[in-house]
Amino acid sequence: MTAHLIDGAAIAAKVRAEVAGLVAQRVAAGKSIPGLATVLVGDNAASQTYVRSKRKASAEVGIESFGHELSKTATQREVEELVVQLNADRRVHGILVQLPLPGGLDEEKVLAAISLEKDVDGFHPINVGRLAMKGRRPLFVPCTPAGCLVLLEEAGAQFRGAQAVVLGRSNIVGLPAAMLLLHRDATVTICHSRSRDLPAICRSADILIAAVGRAQMVRADWVKPGAFVIDVGINRIEDAARKSGYRLVGDVAFDEVKEVAGAITPVPGGVGPMTIAMLLRNTLRGAELADERAVALAAS
Ligand code: NDP
Repeated sequence: MTAHLIDGAAIAAKVRAEVAGLVAQRVAAGKSIPGLATVLVGDNAASQTYVRSKRKASAEVGIESFGHELSKTATQREVEELVVQLNADRRVHGILVQLPLPGGLDEEKVLAAISLEKDVDGFHPINVGRLAMKGRRPLFVPCTPAGCLVLLEEAGAQFRGAQAVVLGRSNIVGLPAAMLLLHRDATVTICHSRSRDLPAICRSADILIAAVGRAQMVRADWVKPGAFVIDVGINRIEDAARKSGYRLVGDVAFDEVKEVAGAITPVPGGVGPMTIAMLLRNTLRGAELADERAVALAAS
């Protein structure tokens, strides 16, 4: 059996086109241009690349972005003061603090300083808390797990009553992905580095999300025939045939798993493009929330 390939690049392009259309509509209607503020602290090359691509993608859909760069010696107070300033800036509807922050800075405090209504990464403790509770709705859901759910929906996965296994329990991917699946009525198992017999647990999964950061860990005999497999991992492995000397692979051994799974995401071109698309969608939502607040204020 050869799995259906879930084309993250195409699905992300569709989401971006939807966002671009809605942004154009709101601007034509005289509403504000959605604005995304990015905060980059330090000189981590990967973080610089991520922020650049988020700003470029914003521009492509008509979202205005405001880049803020602080040196790696920035103090906790300086970072928090910048966030407070952005909270008050009416042109800004989403604040993205690129993680990880340089050592010595308290990430939790910085994230908690972001206004709940501008928390487009969905990492504010109150948004995370709402996501973790039954019957509560966060204002924003973290982008990568939200993107995983869209990919599953587009591929036709049935969530209700399905056995779902999430490999990884990080705050940014594993845990929120598990919560989203639970809210969709899947029966969810979360695995981590201390879990026993991962292959057997994974084999029970109708839906498998791998977010561990271990190259090609999930093998064909870990996968139930016909399962939906979402590979979040991005890992470099040596490849002498490439000029760079390496290539990117996921947490899933793609070539063998695609022969067993029903549907699978590639790496690259799977989850990666969805993360930015969902950020754009969240920023538009931030602008819509600001409109709703303005209407409520005018009516009060
Ligand atoms: P973290 O390192 O924060 O978390 C990894 C998780 O995997 C932890 O819960 C850890 O367990 C678990 N784990 C590690 N090794 C094993 C193992 N051998 N067996 C079982 N569980 C294991 O990573 P992230 O969640 O931030 O990212 C995961 C992967 O996804 C990375 O490759 C990252 O690059 C990629 N990523 C991709 C994104 C995209 O847009 N495509 C966005 C974000 C991440 P424990 O908790 O016990 O330590």
